[in-house]
Amino acid sequence: MSSDNLDAILSLAKRRGFIFPSSSIYGGFSSVYDYGPLGAELKNNIKKEWWRRVVQTNEDIVGVDSAILMSPKVWEASGHLSAGFADPLVECKKCHERFRSDKSREEGGAMGEKECPKCKGELTESRKFNLMMKTFVGPVEDDSAAAYLRAETAQGIFMNYKNVLDTSRVKVPFGIAQIGKAFRNEITPGNFIFRTREFEQMELEYFVKPEKAEQVFEYWKKERMKWYLDMGLKEENLRFRDHEKTELAHYARSATDIEYKFPFGWKEIEGIHDRGDWDLSNHAKHSGEELKYRDPDTGEEYYPYVIETSAGADRSVLVFLADSLERVSGGRTMTTESSRDEEIVLNIAANLAPIKVAILPLVKNKLEITSKARNIFEALKNNFMARYDEQGSIGRRYRRQDEIGTPYCVTVDFDSLSDNTVTLRDRKTMTQERIASDDIPKYLLCKLY
Ligand code: ATP
Repeated sequence: MSSDNLDAILSLAKRRGFIFPSSSIYGGFSSVYDYGPLGAELKNNIKKEWWRRVVQTNEDIVGVDSAILMSPKVWEASGHLSAGFADPLVECKKCHERFRSDKSREEGGAMGEKECPKCKGELTESRKFNLMMKTFVGPVEDDSAAAYLRAETAQGIFMNYKNVLDTSRVKVPFGIAQIGKAFRNEITPGNFIFRTREFEQMELEYFVKPEKAEQVFEYWKKERMKWYLDMGLKEENLRFRDHEKTELAHYARSATDIEYKFPFGWKEIEGIHDRGDWDLSNHAKHSGEELKYRDPDTGEEYYPYVIETSAGADRSVLVFLADSLERVSGGRTMTTESSRDEEIVLNIAANLAPIKVAILPLVKNKLEITSKARNIFEALKNNFMARYDEQGSIGRRYRRQDEIGTPYCVTVDFDSLSDNTVTLRDRKTMTQERIASDDIPKYLLCKLY
């Protein structure tokens, strides 16, 4: 993928309403983004597919939805308030801009630089800067009211480990999954939605007997890579990168990233970590609560080890857009003059596409055709994300749907009035087939899921 592709993604995101800068009428805000109508659908579909794969299809995994705000004691015990969860920074003595000293100039940092990349001022020695976002709970803004927006959804899972054990019929090995917002006061956010200060994570914490940790780590590594491939990403754009011992996060015994080949280089999209018993043993120590697992069959007591898979929902949106965006020069859908223009086609997996089916009356000035098309749309909309579109030539409408990745278009024409059939066009293969309009739901169900 080339860097022009990043420009093409940015332009598509803006033009078709996938993603907008936050507070744009006030000039935007601090690398924060909002999802528009199509972006919200795409992101929801990614989250739904993740949940289906991780929670719905695994009997030994349950989901939770914990609060963003938690007792600050959670973050003391987890190590996030200490140096462990901090990035190394240098500050310019002249303009006071801060830069990551472990990231290169291209990545917005100042690694290896002697002077400020912005104003050439002198840089300070590197020091650690904590990434937790602080707030105050209640009307008084003093230290006793200080709280933090969660920096990872994982801690909300650990807070519910005992609740789940006590109320569900799970036994080790089992997993708890969660999707939700996380916040980090990143020093150098950037590359569109790749790194932001508010983002969403899709995390699984899988609890195992310590001696099984390595084997289960290997299983989840493969399974998570397989998910990206099953969701249609190109194999050549994905790879594993094992962490060196020196770069491990403060809680990790071992870690592997799944990386994607972005226009700005190979970067992490998901981390798979062996967190050992770091979290449960530290929370037990700090809270005084017994968090050891007691095997109901053998009576053995131990802290389970935790294998974590931690993916970013927003980063995934960027990845799926990047991987599926294709520029087709010469046109593939138009037969008119403008067919010489380049066309954008989003070749995204059908189950992730924002709109599943577009219903298009061939002409808009013939009431029998438009009302038949509307009836088909009405019959589909409860079960499928469908859209009705009668604006512009049929070629132009196909093109509009191709650009946002709609896998199927249904065209209602004059023949439909007599034989009740429609043309069903497949975006990927460009084939058109004639099917009975009553068969559309069956057809879509078997193609989409
Ligand atoms: P990085 O090295 O990119 O800062 P990390 O190693 O700190 O990432 P983890 O703590 O392992 O990230 O978080 C797991 C996943 O959460 C990442 O793979 C990424 O998809 C997502 N993520 C983390 N930080 C951000 C962020 N600032 N913006 C968007 N997504 C993020």
